[in-house]
Order: sequence, then structure tokens, then C-alpha cells
Amino acid sequence: MADLLVRGGLLVTMNPGRQVIEKGSVAIEGNRIVAVGEVRERAERVIDARGKAVLPGLINCHTHLPMVLLRGFADDMPLDKWLSDRIWPMEKKMGPRDCYAGALLGALELIKSGTTCFADNYFHMDQVARAVAKAGLRGVLSYGMIDRDDEQKMREEIRIGQSFVRSFHGKAGGRILTMFGPHAPYTCSTECLLKVKELAAKFGVGIHIHVSESSAEVKQTIRRYGKRPVEYLDSIGFLGPEVLAAHCVWVTKREVGIIQRRGVKPVHNPTSNLKMGSGIAPVVEMLQAGVPVALGTDGAASNNSLDLFKEMKLASLLAKLRNRDPTALPAMKALEMATRNGAAALGLEDELGSIEVGKKADLILVDLKKPHLSPLHDVVSHLIYSATGSDVDTVIVDGKILLEGGEVLTLDEEKVLELAQRTSDDLVSRLGEEK
Ligand SMILES: [Zn+2]
Repeated sequence: MADLLVRGGLLVTMNPGRQVIEKGSVAIEGNRIVAVGEVRERAERVIDARGKAVLPGLINCHTHLPMVLLRGFADDMPLDKWLSDRIWPMEKKMGPRDCYAGALLGALELIKSGTTCFADNYFHMDQVARAVAKAGLRGVLSYGMIDRDDEQKMREEIRIGQSFVRSFHGKAGGRILTMFGPHAPYTCSTECLLKVKELAAKFGVGIHIHVSESSAEVKQTIRRYGKRPVEYLDSIGFLGPEVLAAHCVWVTKREVGIIQRRGVKPVHNPTSNLKMGSGIAPVVEMLQAGVPVALGTDGAASNNSLDLFKEMKLASLLAKLRNRDPTALPAMKALEMATRNGAAALGLEDELGSIEVGKKADLILVDLKKPHLSPLHDVVSHLIYSATGSDVDTVIVDGKILLEGGEVLTLDEEKVLELAQRTSDDLVSRLGEEK
């Protein structure tokens, strides 16, 4: 007898054949999927999935979860000024309690919009881990390091990053994994990056970094190292399959070749790139080169949402515009980016990213009985072009139900919202006092 049976849904399996199964069921034992399709098995608990699409949980490969507290705090500014005048001063004020309050709010938003796994890069990551453990989500967490060529700072950042990996990798029943998180090639010294590379190999974890987000960054890197960011990172031996590279907006054809050869995993963050006026990443070119580009929202200060459904739609539309070609990035490819490619980007392709026997039971149910999702011709089309995160009805992570009938079971929604408002009001007033 199975523990949980999701019965009679429209299964969008994302398996190698991209099979869509009508009136299909998924049986779960413990935290694994044990049967898919026509399931005769009985179960402890049954979820009626009729009228709903059942798909693998979405994977957001680039976030800064506590930044939800800064949602709407600073908009419509250039990236450098936005960071130095608004975001960094505010972040200096953010203590562990603030980050915990933010991470809870972020976790609530992720669950309610169908994201089951995310890759995060921030500070006070022990607090983010605490929120992830409580919320029941799956997180690949990294401490964001910035040393700015200060050797003492570098040693301190490495110490914190290493201690985080050591303490939290595999925690919360394996739902929490870790990476090293050097912020970017322009905020971290070569020495810091090389030390991170060595430690990531030692601990067998990945590296989460921002690469080639803006053209200003490219100019700066050329001035400093005589090379573009991807070329520079390659020249110091930093790149490899364990590198999760957020943005990759300003990459040349030659750099796409390097990314492909080294097995680097780029993460496309279309909304953030548009909002910051950064540019449009050459996603189609990377996909055509065989690079499994993943999808991210970036922090909620530059998005201002963590809804991956919006991101899938925008990724598809932007690729069509960039290439002046409506076939450039079809709906199914966009869904792959947020599922299979996300899993591959995190090195978890054997565990996540599709509904298949043996994989972890991370599933979401999308309610199709909505005016904007009717009539139904092609479910994948609806998921990308018509649905939003608000259509997510049920979320299962690691075999546990986190959201049912739109209601979060692991967090007290009202309390989380209240705490977030109080915390962000307090942060703003602390910032005001300083001026
Ligand atoms: Zn970012």
C-alpha cells in the first residue's frame, strides 16, 4: 500500500518522452514516486486530481530569498546605483531575525506559486535554512561571499561559507543541500574564486555565482583582466559542471562555446534582466549549443515576484522577440527550463525534474477549472502562456503535502505576512535613523 496517491489528474510527466497522461495517477511511498500512470495500488491518503494538471515541482535556480523584504523598496534605478544607494545600505542593517522573517515570507510565496526547490545565495543562511526546514521546501543554499580584494575579508568570507556547507549540507532529511556562493567575478578576488573552487571539490558541492549580468560588468572585467567575464573565469580554471552561473546575459558566441565545453549551468532571469535594463540573454543560442539553461527569478527586489510561471512565459516571449522567431522557444522548452534543466543545473537530474518512478516525490497540481485556462487543447500551452502561480492548488515536496486546496499547511500564512511587514517597517526606520 502506498502512502499517498494523486489520482486521476492530467499528468505532465516531463519524462524523456515528455509524455502527457490523461486521467493518470502518481503513487508515493515515503519521499519517492513508486508508480505513474494507471495505478491500481491503494493508499493511506488519496488526493483527487481530476480537473487538475499534475506536474513536477518547479525549480527556481537563482534567488536571494530574504530580499522579499525589499520588494518594492527600490525600483526603476540603474543596477550600480540600485545596489550601492538602496540595496547594500539596507542589507547592512539586516540581521539574522530579519533574514528569517524574509525567508519565511519567501518560502510562503514559493510554495503558493508551485516552486518546490530553489537555489539561494544570500547571508545569514542558517536562518534561510531554518525557514526551509520549517516550510518543508527543498533548498540548495549558499552563503554569498564578497571580498573586494581585501585579504582579511576573504579569509572571513571563506570561513563562513565553509562552515555553512559543513553544518547544513544534507540537513532537514536531505531537503537542504549547500553550495559555495562567491557573489560575482567583480566583487570577489581571483584568489577567493580559486579557494572556493578548491573547497567545492573538497566538499563535493556546487558553486553559485553571478556572471555577465550587465554590460558595465563586462567592461570592468575587460579593463581589469583584459578578458570578458566567462573568458576570465575560464582562464583561471574556475569553470566546470559544478558552476551555477546566474544571468549570462552578455556572453559572446565564443563564451557560449566555453560554457558548453566546461559544462557550466547558466540560469536565465528574464524579469530581473529586463527590470534592471541589463539585456536579454542568448538563451536559444545556449540551448542550441546543448547547454541546459535553467530558470530563476532572482531576488524579489529586482523582479518583484518569485512566481516561476511568469518567468517561464517571459523566457519564451523574450526569446521569440530576440530572435524575431515565434518558434524560438516553444512552451515545452520553457517548461523544461523550470523542471528538467533546473534539476540538471543543480546536479539533481536523477532525483528531480520529472514525474518518474524512483524520483523524489516533488509534485504540484494546477487547477484547470478556471476561465483563463479554458477551453483545454494543450495543457503545456496553458501552463506557460495562461497560468500563473495563483492557479497552483496543491504542492507536495519529499512526499509531504505543503499546500492543499490553496492552503499552506506548514506555515501560518497570516503570521508570516504580519511578521514580514513588521520586520520591513523596522528595517526602513533603522535605515532612516542613520541618515
Ligand atoms: Zn542575483
